Amino acid sequence: MGFLDEAITDLKSQGLFRSLRETESVQGPEIVLDGRKVLNFCSNDYLGLAGDPRLAEAAAEAARRYGAGSGAARLISGNNVLNDAFEAAVADLKGTPSVLLFNSGYHANIGAIPALAGEVDVIFSDELNHASLIDGCRLSKARTEVYRHNDLNQLEDLLRNFPPTPSLLRKGLGGGLIVTEAVFSMEGDVCPLDDLLELAQKYGALVYLDEAHAVGVFGRDGEGLAPKNPPENLICMGTLGKAFGSYGAFVAGSASLRDYLINKARSFIFTTALPPPVTAASLAAVKIAAAEPERRKKLWDNIQSLGGNPSPIFSLPIGGAEKTMEVSRRLLELGLFVQGIRPPTVPEGTSRLRLTLSAAHTGEQIATLREALKFVHRS
Ligand code: PMP
Repeated sequence: MGFLDEAITDLKSQGLFRSLRETESVQGPEIVLDGRKVLNFCSNDYLGLAGDPRLAEAAAEAARRYGAGSGAARLISGNNVLNDAFEAAVADLKGTPSVLLFNSGYHANIGAIPALAGEVDVIFSDELNHASLIDGCRLSKARTEVYRHNDLNQLEDLLRNFPPTPSLLRKGLGGGLIVTEAVFSMEGDVCPLDDLLELAQKYGALVYLDEAHAVGVFGRDGEGLAPKNPPENLICMGTLGKAFGSYGAFVAGSASLRDYLINKARSFIFTTALPPPVTAASLAAVKIAAAEPERRKKLWDNIQSLGGNPSPIFSLPIGGAEKTMEVSRRLLELGLFVQGIRPPTVPEGTSRLRLTLSAAHTGEQIATLREALKFVHRS
């Protein structure tokens, strides 16, 4: 099939070809990558929980008790008791009446958004939203108005120009769906949530907040950027694969939101439930993250020591895709794994290094990073 090779050659000539690297160690600040020990500055394991033996033990115990697979979708025979225990724990963390567990953040976004908004609705979407949010908007078939990153003036203009739509009104959801990330995954900046909620309130809109990079990291107990007991017009989605060191995702809100999504979110209905060991690890992680606030403190101390940043995600702009990947390669030669990010993940001409810190990084490791970045910049 020649067209595949042509497309691959094309990608390579633009510096956009991606390939897989192999790890063979527990996740942590040091990993074995393609057979070599390196310092890891690109995982989303913000609290250092992915390799925590307590998560592994919780998973092992669940595997012994319930087996490795769930056997079917949750609506069929796959709804293991651990799912309900997990949802209760997260509802407590978020201060919401209900929570629904999804298989991943991707599943949550492509399921919940089309369930909430349909063809005759309007979605207002930040231009830097994650691919899974974009795909959720596309699948909904709603008219999607993209606003400049965090630009609430433009968002207000759009809200004014697109009055409440029939189906959302019928559902009682108000004047449209605003979709945004809490912490932007490739920029590391934060959405102005209070002002956004005020605006949503003024125009009767609903906010769908993706807290993938915020849960575990923000809040007294790791509840995220949204306050506990969030207002009625705020739906929070969070993932388990990042700060919580496991896999899966949740959508938190009212009891009727949960019932509604169980019935309407296709990526919930038509997929096999998460394996019990995964849910057990997630449940353990949510409890540990709340019980050990020193992890969050250490993470924020580390962030501060690298120069202050609104989140653990540091974005170092380079520009061209090839140059970015070359800098990333040079850092890897020095023993530091810092991922280069290029289109289509970020817009053309804005390729960058995305580096992330974890509570598990030591001061010495961060000092090594600082020196390596200086060296790479100079050369
Ligand atoms: N939303 C955002 C903002 C993300 O960064 C990601 C993961 N890259 C996801 C959703 C998808 O989450 P998951 O990895 O659990 O599918």
